[in-house]
Amino acid sequence: MSELSDRLKNLADKPTGPCPVGRLLESMDKETAEALEKALAGRAATRVIHSELINAGIHIGRDTVAAHRNGWCRCKAAQA
Ligand SMILES: [Zn+2]
Repeated sequence: MSELSDRLKNLADKPTGPCPVGRLLESMDKETAEALEKALAGRAATRVIHSELINAGIHIGRDTVAAHRNGWCRCKAAQA
């Protein structure tokens, strides 16, 4: 068995839960979470939203934000 298949298997075995953005939304107060969700659903560039999070001391990858925004993240899978 290749190392890659082991790694991929481990990924599949991981419990599904929200992605870092989903967890962030859960950890925020309601007002902030709603504002972030609105921003994500709106027309602001991911780059701009990401910068705001970084400025607020929230270290999260821009790709992670983009994946959540586009519905490619674990949150979607967890809901299905
Ligand atoms: Zn997500």
